[in-house]
Amino acid sequence: MTATAIRHDWSLQEINELFALPFNDLIFRAQGVHRQHFDPNEVQVSTLLSIKTGACPEDCKYCPQSGHYNTGLEKEKLLEIEQVVAEARAAREKGASRFCMGAAWRSPTKKDMPYVTEMVRQVKSLGLETCMTLGMLNDDQATELADAGLDYYNHNLDTSEKYYSHIITTRTYQDRLDTLERVRSAGMKVCCGGIMGMGEDSDDRSGLLMQLANLPHHPESVPINMLVKVAGTPMEDVEDLDPFEFVRTIAVARILMPNSHVRLSAGREDMNDQMQALCFLAGANSIFYGEKLLTTANPEADHDRQLFNRLGIRPEERDVNHTEDEHEEALVNALEEERNRHLFYDAAQIA
Ligand code: SF4
Repeated sequence: MTATAIRHDWSLQEINELFALPFNDLIFRAQGVHRQHFDPNEVQVSTLLSIKTGACPEDCKYCPQSGHYNTGLEKEKLLEIEQVVAEARAAREKGASRFCMGAAWRSPTKKDMPYVTEMVRQVKSLGLETCMTLGMLNDDQATELADAGLDYYNHNLDTSEKYYSHIITTRTYQDRLDTLERVRSAGMKVCCGGIMGMGEDSDDRSGLLMQLANLPHHPESVPINMLVKVAGTPMEDVEDLDPFEFVRTIAVARILMPNSHVRLSAGREDMNDQMQALCFLAGANSIFYGEKLLTTANPEADHDRQLFNRLGIRPEERDVNHTEDEHEEALVNALEEERNRHLFYDAAQIA
């Protein structure tokens, strides 16, 4: 078995052709790629905490935290460091390997930086991987976070460049790409994905995945969210996306970015167990665990545990992301081990 080549030159047409495959063919292909790069029965588990909630100056039309919409959300100031560390410890005890901290900011200010960098240091000292999402970063902020040891920075592109201005007007697509570039240059890993079901068309879903897959390095983590419609936001009445189209998006993301963790993110609360199992089959191998996802509900931790048991899925011990070369080497070793196991098994059969 040869590992799928890692490409950064996908055309829109090629991606549209993947989306257009018969469903079974697409899932079969995605599962094949998945098995070449990951243990198909392991799912990475992250926990997300809102460290500063609401009153965001941005106007993302899906977001209950935007100060532009009246969603009845209770605002909260930046949490105390001790509280964040206590939540991180509890998440670790429940099996999380990564702790993500999100603040509803356009960008952090100078006075916020010492707090957030200290949070990173203290959460990391618990043995957890750390991720933050704080809005746009300048070069110095990216360097400060990297120096504090932040492993991942989340900054979603949300949708295609073409559809972006229908969703957000307070910043541009290029602003997002610039922050992603700064995060990468500072040496942090990138978590970047989007939201499906915001009224976009299929070209927009392909366009988003093309943008992600054609970045100079694939994001190590690719959250694929299903819109959670929140009353009071401009998206509260948008038409539902066909769930199979969502599964297709996961499958295509898996094929385009074979080494990335594809995360089944927001919207899981509205998915039944069968739908989630289909997403895992299509190549999703990361979830958020815990009862709340920033400000929207998430399936209860116990239910997730039961689902994992029913599907024979194990939480991934620790998300070890290698460079593409290291990954290739690890994969060759894994395949060699697998081959030896088969040889041994065949020999045992004959004997
Ligand atoms: S998605 Fe983030 S940036 Fe946009 S309004 Fe919500 S908190 Fe602010």
